Amino acid sequence: MTIDLHTHSSASDGTDSPAQLYAAAHAVGVDTVAITDHDTAAGWEAAVAALPAGMSLVRGAELSTHIVAEDRHYSIHLLAYLFDPTAPGIARELARLRSDRLERGMLIVDRMVAAGLPISREQVLDIAAGAPVGRPHIGRALMAAGLVESVTEAFAGYLSGRGPYYVAKSDTLLADGIELVRAAGGVPVVAHPRSRGARHLTDDAFFRRYADLGLGGIEVGHPDHDDADAAELAEIAARYGLIATGSSDYHGSNKPVLLGTRTTAADQLERLVAASAGAVPIVAGA
Ligand code: AMP
Ligand code: ZN
Repeated sequence: MTIDLHTHSSASDGTDSPAQLYAAAHAVGVDTVAITDHDTAAGWEAAVAALPAGMSLVRGAELSTHIVAEDRHYSIHLLAYLFDPTAPGIARELARLRSDRLERGMLIVDRMVAAGLPISREQVLDIAAGAPVGRPHIGRALMAAGLVESVTEAFAGYLSGRGPYYVAKSDTLLADGIELVRAAGGVPVVAHPRSRGARHLTDDAFFRRYADLGLGGIEVGHPDHDDADAAELAEIAARYGLIATGSSDYHGSNKPVLLGTRTTAADQLERLVAASAGAVPIVAGA
């Protein structure tokens, strides 16, 4: 079993449709994939319909959350696994986040248009094709305009959080996100805690505190983590009984990362399933 628990499809800011994402996973020998689109469960249905024989879908999503420390907001991403997307609390919050993403994406575009960049609201909405709008969609518009060669290049400049066009998006307080995922029967896992931003805050005391508040796991393996990060996070996970996952955070051609570059051990997936309210991965008949 080769398990990748964090991927984005075209239902959010990845470039592969759920069917293409499964074909890509099949091609590299990854057989169990979680689709964890930002703020939506919209990709699950197409994924189930397209599952190649013997492959499994772990239903997931990624929520943008924040913590307040040092009088500032720090962004922390929260993966939600095997939750019921129709549970009222989480359904309402995901809808709020999607509508905020739309407004905020359009504000970023307006700033770019005002500065004379040749992109438009309509073009970005076309690219997003109904998905919750994210900066990668704007990055693709910048590529189409010939201003950058890749979305990664756009993130280093036009889309940078420190650049002149940036508008913050609203998010959920981490503790509230954990509670909403649990209330929906799911398992909350902190995504890539050692990525830039809040990496200095995600120490032992941080995980002890959130484990007490219902956190279920830590994404230990991630392309943004070096070996020392992963080793330390694995120790912390063991200390507080948290599930340790590993994933690629694949975004198709929006990001230079391959499916299965980090993986999750089968026993950790079993723990994840056991910790959810009875939801199991969906497996296509062999
Ligand atoms: P946003 O959610 O709109 O603030 O955009 C940030 C998101 O873009 C991150 O959560 C990443 O998942 C995603 N992303 C996709 N491609 C890239 C890239 N090449 N560089 C940085 N972030 C990326
Ligand atoms: Zn992600």
